[in-house]
Amino acid sequence: MILTSAILACQILTLHQDAEFPQQRQVLPNGAVTFVEAGEPNGIFSAAIHFGSANVSAEDRAAGAPHLWEHIAAKGPDKTLDMQLESAGFVLRATTDRDGTTMSIVGPKRTWQLGVSAMLTLLNPVSTSQAEIDTEAKILKQESLLLSKSWGMESAAWGALFGPQDADPFGQLEAMAKFTPEQMELVHQQMTNPEAISVSVVGDIPVNVVNAMLGDTLGKLGKSPAVTPSRKPVQPPGTVRGKGRGLMWAIPVSSLASTKTFASIGLGVAFASEYPVSVNYQPSALPGFVLISSEESGVMDKLFQLDPEKFAPFVGRAQLAARAYVRGLRSNLRTYTELNARMMRMNRAWEYDQLVAIANQVSASDVLEAYQAMNGEEMMIVEGGLN
Ligand SMILES: [Zn+2]
Repeated sequence: MILTSAILACQILTLHQDAEFPQQRQVLPNGAVTFVEAGEPNGIFSAAIHFGSANVSAEDRAAGAPHLWEHIAAKGPDKTLDMQLESAGFVLRATTDRDGTTMSIVGPKRTWQLGVSAMLTLLNPVSTSQAEIDTEAKILKQESLLLSKSWGMESAAWGALFGPQDADPFGQLEAMAKFTPEQMELVHQQMTNPEAISVSVVGDIPVNVVNAMLGDTLGKLGKSPAVTPSRKPVQPPGTVRGKGRGLMWAIPVSSLASTKTFASIGLGVAFASEYPVSVNYQPSALPGFVLISSEESGVMDKLFQLDPEKFAPFVGRAQLAARAYVRGLRSNLRTYTELNARMMRMNRAWEYDQLVAIANQVSASDVLEAYQAMNGEEMMIVEGGLN
């Protein structure tokens, strides 16, 4: 009886959401993926393109080719994309991480056609020059000064478990400065291969019209070899050393859509409510890490050894924090649109509602299990101190 009413409640919830925010997605014959969802009628929408980097060689990824490509490609094929977007009321955001590069805009509904068509020119062939690469290499050097303090420790964890191609998506300054225009044009082909592309548009837009337009433009891209995103962990080495200060727990998780991921993030956030620690997770459908770190090694040591009585108050807080985290993924329109693009690329059946269900089901024993895993053999510890 209870089960029946629970199922009914779920169905009503789904119907209600469908009615409130109609959604369409398509997988085109050439492998490109689209996701379009209507939002609040507030005159605003967001569009994002995710370019998966799985087709770029491991060597080029280790060097930082996708990041350098992002800098060049974000200007658009005729280097005027910024201007076009700005005049239509948009600002472009571009980021590169271990799954690929994501570019997005947020802006007024009345110029959606201008904004989305300008974004889609990112898929056209790009040309670059040695002078442009040299300029971007200088910009990247400046940008490297802004990397977070725990970046070096994070890179050490990723490199140790997944290999050099996933160690540092920012890239190696010296190696990036050595790329040639021909190499970057090849990287452009690899990043804009339809199999590597997903486009998401969310907000106050006509879903049918937008989806048809995306299908039209993306459908024209020629078919190219399949890309299978993969990331396989090796045997964890226990303790590694990295650049930075303090101590980091690197907790391996299979993907965003997992109880352990939510329980670990929740517990990290709960710890952060009382101790000077930070929590970091990059949403992905592929294996990765939940990272919990403190610049004071003593704080992490203390957290490792909490007795049951001291640990108990964190359980409920972790459950609440897991739910708040999943809500947070949707609370910002740009973040949510980018999330849909990147998750669709890796898992075409991806559903945000599924995440909500997983986060809501995180139990006290899930939190305890996550804590035990944090003290277990699969976890990696990164010690700062390297220069
Ligand atoms: Zn950059």
